[in-house]
Amino acid sequence: MFVLRGSNGQIMTSTAWDETNGQEIEYETYEQAQEALEEFEKSLPKNMLRIVATECDRCGGSDDVAIIHVNDEPKAYCQNCRVEMFTKKKPVGRPSVGVTKKVSLTLSEENWEWLDEKAEGNRSKFLREVVWNALGNESEWSNYACLGYAIAGAKKLGYDDKKISELVREMLWQFDMKTVEEAKEIYTDSEY
Ligand SMILES: [Zn+2]
Repeated sequence: MFVLRGSNGQIMTSTAWDETNGQEIEYETYEQAQEALEEFEKSLPKNMLRIVATECDRCGGSDDVAIIHVNDEPKAYCQNCRVEMFTKKKPVGRPSVGVTKKVSLTLSEENWEWLDEKAEGNRSKFLREVVWNALGNESEWSNYACLGYAIAGAKKLGYDDKKISELVREMLWQFDMKTVEEAKEIYTDSEY
């Protein structure tokens, strides 16, 4: 957005008899502001008014916004965005681990104490590892893969179709009855 200001920074307000009365007039595009400026300059000496960008086109900020022509199109960018856009960034250090998204997490005081102790000063690294672990467990464990191993083993041992189908049916039942953790314990606590 653009506004017309006096060259001394003076703010011009609308004198129209409508809801804009008393408000600063904003122009959607640089061209519209340019048109209005030309219109004003017919009745005013030149250089009394100038076009000022109100917001950065990129971030909406207003810190030292300046108009830059990008492919012949006037764009308003704040100081920060100008630096970011026109400085070619060289990759530094390790490559990015992915897309950064902000989250807000509510936990009890004790949970935070526990988390911060584990995180050793790097909460995002710790939480990333927690997610990776959860993902790993999910892809590692599959009831179908487990049945596949059992069927392959049973076939190798010469079990007939009836026995194998009984085994599969029983295993399907056990999947519902026991957690992965419990099943793991049955194996590790057994003598097999
Ligand atoms: Zn900006």
